[in-house]
Amino acid sequence: MSCPCGCGDSITLSLQAIHKPHWSLSQTESLRPTLYPSVWRDVGCFSHFWVRDGRVFWCADTGFPPVRSRF
Ligand SMILES: [Zn+2]
Repeated sequence: MSCPCGCGDSITLSLQAIHKPHWSLSQTESLRPTLYPSVWRDVGCFSHFWVRDGRVFWCADTGFPPVRSRF
C-alpha cells in the first residue's frame, strides 16, 4: 500500500504470523479492509493510523517517531 499521508512512500506490511511485527487483515461485510493493529511508520513521515472498514483513521501522535516504551 502507499502511505495515506501522501508522502509517496510505500508501506509493506507483513500479514504472515511468523513475522514480527505482522498485521491481520480482515474484511467487513462491505468487503472493505480492516487492519489490526495500527500502522506506525518508524521511518520517513512517522505516520500512525488505523485502517478500519477501508478508511484511514489518524492517531493523535502521527508524525512523531514511535516510542514503544515511554516509561
Ligand atoms: Zn507518509
